[in-house]
Amino acid sequence: MDREQFRVAAHSAIDDILNYFEGIPDRRVVPAVEPGYLRPLIPSDPPTEPESVTFPSILGEMYSATFTAPAFNWLCSPACTELETIVMDWVAKALGLPGCFLSSSETNGGGVIQNSASDAIATMMVAARERRVREMVLAEGRQEGTLEYDERKMDLQPRLVAIASDQTHSSAAKGALIAGTRFRSVPTRLDENMEMTGPHLREVLEKCERDNLTPYHLTMTLGTTNICSVDRFAEIKAVLREKPAWQRIWVHVDAAYAGAALVADEWQYLAQEFAEGVDSFNMNLHKWLLVNFDASALFVRNRLDLTNALDVTPTYLRNPYSDMGTVIDYRNWSISLGRRFRALKIWFVLRSYGLNGMKAHIRKTIGFGDIFAGLIRSRSDRFEIVTKPAFALTVFRVKNPQVADQTPTVCRKDETADTLTKTVYELVNSRGEIFITSTVVDGIYVIRVISANPLADEKNVRNAFDIILRTTEEVLQRQ
Ligand code: PLP
Repeated sequence: MDREQFRVAAHSAIDDILNYFEGIPDRRVVPAVEPGYLRPLIPSDPPTEPESVTFPSILGEMYSATFTAPAFNWLCSPACTELETIVMDWVAKALGLPGCFLSSSETNGGGVIQNSASDAIATMMVAARERRVREMVLAEGRQEGTLEYDERKMDLQPRLVAIASDQTHSSAAKGALIAGTRFRSVPTRLDENMEMTGPHLREVLEKCERDNLTPYHLTMTLGTTNICSVDRFAEIKAVLREKPAWQRIWVHVDAAYAGAALVADEWQYLAQEFAEGVDSFNMNLHKWLLVNFDASALFVRNRLDLTNALDVTPTYLRNPYSDMGTVIDYRNWSISLGRRFRALKIWFVLRSYGLNGMKAHIRKTIGFGDIFAGLIRSRSDRFEIVTKPAFALTVFRVKNPQVADQTPTVCRKDETADTLTKTVYELVNSRGEIFITSTVVDGIYVIRVISANPLADEKNVRNAFDIILRTTEEVLQRQ
């Protein structure tokens, strides 16, 4: 959709919205529809090609802002609830996720839109905690609903520990905090590309056993924040199979950013790798998949794990549809009660681009990343790639000119290189032509350049490289 088409569509959206408001007095307060009314009206799969009437994300927001229903249960807004279920199924299919995450799965799976990956992860940890503590208390022969049962749950909770790698986003540690449990991290190494490995995980699990702690939740990451590495799913799952207690750990995959790549066929093998043994998966459509902020997709293998943990139903929330259990009430899938009609914008974007348009976007931006990484490699006298370029992200540093002719397979700590890299980073950003980010990987100061913006083109990527190279020469000359 170009600017002129957007203008026309936005004006027509405003007319629709005004007509809707003018027609409110003539409408029923609650629509006369039965559960499941929407499913037959919408195709079961997302479109492959863009549709002729296109509505991108911002228009979806305009319509969403029009409807004031807080949509916390089906009755409140059947359309909001049912479109969310259908669109989350579309997203699961678009990403090639295992069938257990579909709303129609035998495992009672399904997807829900959360505010952010952090909300999704904290929510999962609470569900995981409840599932684990419940299993433990029931195994002791105590009766659910008794005071003794509740007391025992509270006794056990402080011994629970959530595990993730030291590269996992801080939302995992925050989730453990919110769930009122402990957190331990698995160390990673630069010569293993900062990926969580089976052996390092085993060491942490064994240490927990020695400390009389119960691991209950594990976060695996597909695309870490620092360098976009992918934890070694197969190895990790093999370790978890080694002991009955480890098989009961809730395994979550955080693919907040890189999960978007799964729309492209060549990345879908990653979705299949965690087909077995994973309880939940999250990705942010608003990071790299063309939907505007906020649209965080969370999928769960068994929604009863979520609703068992989060369903608190006072009288004022009861209604015949919920009581019969024939509808989804998303309030029981998240921390908040009220929710926005975010499925609309995701629906518009999926229809607007079609799967092929989304694949093209991912391939184009990864291609720009490859171009950038190639440019960095072409000046191996000046720069050093520090970790494996991935998902349109290149992580590199400025070389220490004293050792510029040597390129070790794994970068070594080097204070001069750290200082140079930091100086270049700060100078580039202070000039405001481009904005780059930095981080520290295994003690090494690095610059990160990413080409995931849908508005970016090859010219921007080459320009960014030229600016960084020019600034590096300037800094080296000053020294
Ligand atoms: N997980 C990963 C891998 C991330 O990179 C990020 C943010 O950068 C998050 C989680 C947190 O995302 P949100 O801002 O949606 O909470």
